[in-house]
Amino acid sequence: MKCYRFRIYPSKTQEKQMNTHLWLAKNLWNDLLEHSKTTYQNFDKFPTKSTFAAMTKDSGLHSQVAQEIGFRVEKGIWRYVKLRKAGDRKAGFPRFRSIDRIKSLHYSQSGFSVDQKLKVTPFGEIPIVQHRQINGKIKTLSLKKETSDKWFACFAVEETPTIKASNGKPKVGIDLGLKILATLSDETIIKNPRHLKKHADHLASLQQLLSRKKKGSRNRWKAKREVALAYEKVVNTRTDFLHKATTNLVNSYSLIALEKLASQEMSEQNFGKSINDAGWGMFANMLAYKAESAGCQVVFVDPKNTTQECSCCHQIVNKNLTERTHECPSCGLTMDRDLNAAHNILARATQGHWGSNAFGDVPQGTSLKEEAHAL
Ligand SMILES: [Zn+2]
Repeated sequence: MKCYRFRIYPSKTQEKQMNTHLWLAKNLWNDLLEHSKTTYQNFDKFPTKSTFAAMTKDSGLHSQVAQEIGFRVEKGIWRYVKLRKAGDRKAGFPRFRSIDRIKSLHYSQSGFSVDQKLKVTPFGEIPIVQHRQINGKIKTLSLKKETSDKWFACFAVEETPTIKASNGKPKVGIDLGLKILATLSDETIIKNPRHLKKHADHLASLQQLLSRKKKGSRNRWKAKREVALAYEKVVNTRTDFLHKATTNLVNSYSLIALEKLASQEMSEQNFGKSINDAGWGMFANMLAYKAESAGCQVVFVDPKNTTQECSCCHQIVNKNLTERTHECPSCGLTMDRDLNAAHNILARATQGHWGSNAFGDVPQGTSLKEEAHAL
């Protein structure tokens, strides 16, 4: 499943209607929870599926949207029951939600169609900007509202696999870093965009302001919203940038080698300031899913000593974090530290003795989406 996300422009009336539906969704979620709690308190059991079905029917929402909320509440409760039975005393009952916590309306099968325009029951035709073509069969639609009040349509699409023959372009190794996002073995450098740093700094200062506001105050609420907006900006800027960079890469190379654990290790090191993490996980994911249709192959290699090893004579040359140049005492190779690493990464992917043609084996990085939700 691939996700396509497009900006939509509902009219004032539609927007009002959609907001009402978010509100109805919140009510339904809370009603179902409340009912489950009282049923359990009075009868020592949870409501049956048919009670849930009857309640979702009268919610005022589209049947698909209502059903999905029902499923989610049910799933949440069963998860809680299962964990409790297994002895997990910390397992929490699904929580009641405020309107801030309900952000999307989910259509799991029907109730919508899209070609030039998006049609959604009961809102009607909503203008949509499809900046790329949908390849495959559309399965679900989520209408999402961001903190900035912008609306998006997200389609989950089942792709028709099109395996292209190799695009015949050169092979490349990539070393990922903090200041410079990527150093390529052919000496190309991909820098993080400057405005990203600006947005991230702004976010950091807003976060500091927030920490000084009194709990429960109106000012705190305002500051929190500003943080969420700034966060959204950072995430969007970075995602756009990564999309452009990765599309460019898969179209320019037939093989791209990356370190296997880079994103995991790095995000652990940077835990707590993940906003500064350069988004390696996302970068690797995007490369992996875009590669196939572009006739490119992505290979993840063993990351051990890629920085220390000499890419010419394979001698281990130890260096600390501040040493930016690789200088080999054995063979005399002098080269930028990251470039040397990129050469090693490429060699490991192509020589085969590391046995790592790990196409599709994507390392798990921190998901920004999840972080954004946590706010
Ligand atoms: Zn050497």
